[in-house]
Amino acid sequence: MIRLYDTTLRDGEQREGVSLTVEDKLSIARRLDTLGVSYIEGGFPVSNPKDAAFFVRAGELNLKQAQLVAFGLSCKKGTAAAEDAGLNILAACSAPIITLLGKAWDIQVEQVLATNRDENLRMIEDSVRFLVDKRKEVFLDAEHFFDGYRSDAAYALAVLEAGIRGGATAVVLCETNGGALPNEVFDITLAVSAALRDNGHGDVEIGIHTHDDSGCAVANSLEAVRAGATQVQGTVNGYGERVGNANLLTVLADLELKMGYEVVGGERLKLLTSTSQFVAETLNITPDPHQPYVGQSAFAHKGGLHVSAHDRLLHAYEHVDPVAVGNFAHIVVSELAGKVSLRTKASEFGITLPEQPEAIDRLLDNLKQREAKGYSYEVADASLALLLRAQLGEPITCFKLESFRVIADKREDGKLMTEATIKIHVGDERFVATGEGNGPVNALDVALRLAIRRFYPQIDELHLTDYKVRVIDESTGTSAITRVLIETSDGFETWGTVGVSENIIEASWNALVDAISYGLLRWNRDVSQVNT
Ligand SMILES: [Zn+2]
Repeated sequence: MIRLYDTTLRDGEQREGVSLTVEDKLSIARRLDTLGVSYIEGGFPVSNPKDAAFFVRAGELNLKQAQLVAFGLSCKKGTAAAEDAGLNILAACSAPIITLLGKAWDIQVEQVLATNRDENLRMIEDSVRFLVDKRKEVFLDAEHFFDGYRSDAAYALAVLEAGIRGGATAVVLCETNGGALPNEVFDITLAVSAALRDNGHGDVEIGIHTHDDSGCAVANSLEAVRAGATQVQGTVNGYGERVGNANLLTVLADLELKMGYEVVGGERLKLLTSTSQFVAETLNITPDPHQPYVGQSAFAHKGGLHVSAHDRLLHAYEHVDPVAVGNFAHIVVSELAGKVSLRTKASEFGITLPEQPEAIDRLLDNLKQREAKGYSYEVADASLALLLRAQLGEPITCFKLESFRVIADKREDGKLMTEATIKIHVGDERFVATGEGNGPVNALDVALRLAIRRFYPQIDELHLTDYKVRVIDESTGTSAITRVLIETSDGFETWGTVGVSENIIEASWNALVDAISYGLLRWNRDVSQVNT
């Protein structure tokens, strides 16, 4: 049986920039109770009036599953526990369980606490006993336990023994600095477990509390469990000071899905993703899309191999079923990195790609080069269809550009007029047309229509319905690239096209030519199909 101990409301709130109201704390506690954690640490009522208020209102919670815990310090040096103001506040608080901090590192005792080792043991034992006498259950948080154990193992163990003598039901090994590695945590936890058993304290629960400074908080927690710990402390989404605490949600999923423990059970585990999002929202932190299990991208598949495998073998590329943790798989079809997805996409346009793998490789290479230049076909299917047809040697444009010129004219009356002149060839004929518009795209569109209407009267059915500009600079170190997306409709169907250039007018022209060409080609194909 593994018990989860959540300290989001105390250690999690130590994260920079985070501040929770009492209401926030109450609503997070409710969610944690629903998720099925065993213990919810509500705060440090001695130091913090807001936390004191939380414990006053905690009766409203009606917790069904979890028990509420208050955090505190052992008595001051040279003071009897009964005389310690802080311990009296803890004794009177509504939480049935108190987690008491005691120093387990000899250097800290001597230099930070500035007392001797025996007095530190006395303070811990007396403080625990005082609270136990007040009918509280007490957990001892052994601060800097792993550093302490490396420095003087016998003394670190004596600290645990002092807590147990006072009546603590759990001793929590705190990896306070976050620097330990999984093998050390395993070895030391195993040694502690054996020592407690040898001393007749096999019934005392061992807890683990880790921080992520070495990137090992979750791994360290799991190793401690393998070595005998049965209580795991952590925070939702790993929130905490510096780089954060052990992410309790990741620990939970790993324990349930990978290590065979029933901690909250399969049904409650499905609340993992929503709990993560709820707490992020309440703390006003943007959820990390790449967080294990619960992130929006945790089960996103992009790239040809995964997409093609997904159809055939559902879970071949997923380490667990996303449904188990309340998440779901996203398939990103825009990335045309693979042959199967390219074929699938081409067949959507009615294009049959050649069978030869070399031909497909050439198409993919070209696509990748264009994507590297800033092209994106996610919403520009029509440009992609034209590109594929062009590469297969099919004609895609009905006209050939000789040149265009765009003039923007700011007039005395304040109006800005744009005029475009284009020179194009249709078959053997040359046309020159000038159009006016409220912007360069509009003016070019008007001029192009004037020029080719005689040959392609159906152009009047095509309407530009949306125009988006985005400046992207990630693809080049020197100058910014402009990407223009145009949406066009013929009243029945809508299609998207893309143009990319360092110059916004050229990018717009490219997207416009694709928009018109795709519409005219579609019309021609429809007509030819009707005729045959
Ligand atoms: Zn901590």
